[in-house]
Amino acid sequence: MAVVSAKKMLLKATEGKYAVGAFNVTNIVQMKAVIEAAQGKRAPLILQTSVAPVRFLGVKVLVAAYRALAEAASVPICLHLDHCTDVTLCKAAADAGYTNIMIDASKEEFEANVRVTKAVTDYCHALGDVTVEGELGTVCGVEDQIKVTEDEAALCDPGKAEEFVRRSGIDLFAPAIGTAHGVYKTKNPKLRFDLLQEVFKVLNGAEPTVPLVIHGGTGLQDDVVRRLVACGGCKFNVSTELKHTLIDATYGYISTHRDEYNPGRLDDAVSKATIQMVERWIDVLGCAGKAG
Ligand SMILES: [Zn+2]
Repeated sequence: MAVVSAKKMLLKATEGKYAVGAFNVTNIVQMKAVIEAAQGKRAPLILQTSVAPVRFLGVKVLVAAYRALAEAASVPICLHLDHCTDVTLCKAAADAGYTNIMIDASKEEFEANVRVTKAVTDYCHALGDVTVEGELGTVCGVEDQIKVTEDEAALCDPGKAEEFVRRSGIDLFAPAIGTAHGVYKTKNPKLRFDLLQEVFKVLNGAEPTVPLVIHGGTGLQDDVVRRLVACGGCKFNVSTELKHTLIDATYGYISTHRDEYNPGRLDDAVSKATIQMVERWIDVLGCAGKAG
């Protein structure tokens, strides 16, 4: 079906009160497995990469693999660049064929965040159907090359959300509401559902216009995820769990097949574990059967 951009897909999710999984992949085996899971569930899908795989494999390789797989797939699929702080790299990814770009200037002061984000938005919109995600407030934890300590983490100011979205021109908005990157230190992290609701009301109260993104999906309890979806989160970023699944499946396979030298079977083990993990997320997010 399809190479598509994120905004339309996510406005539909906002209206339908479900969320789309945005899964961070680091290689092509994972990319293929995530797509297989989405196809099996008839779910729309956002594939993401952080900056590290872009630097390792190069945008052209990632875009070529995405296009070949997405064009042959039976569900709509976006390719999103996650948490990029480098404006030049954001532009290069958009030029190469990423359908959606996250410029992360959330560590900057408000005015600088608006200015840097707008530069990327203007560039991507001029290319056509490339949409942009921006963040206000900072998400605690480590994602790729970006580290935010608990002291630095700041929640989104809902009073500034409308101004940030309007002046930066972004298509998708990631408000920091207390979720974290990496592994949660507690089973019940302190999340600000009220803040998400308030932001939703400000931006989408009259009609859905700016889809809201939840970062730090890994480790959240299913009921918490469902509550965040009910409060208006429609794009859920899952990264750490994919990394753990890849490493654990690899380690598990090699430990039990120490004398076998068949990389294809190892890929198969990683692929199966990834498919299972992604299928579970799709069920929790409520996007199964929504590809149509
Ligand atoms: Zn994130």
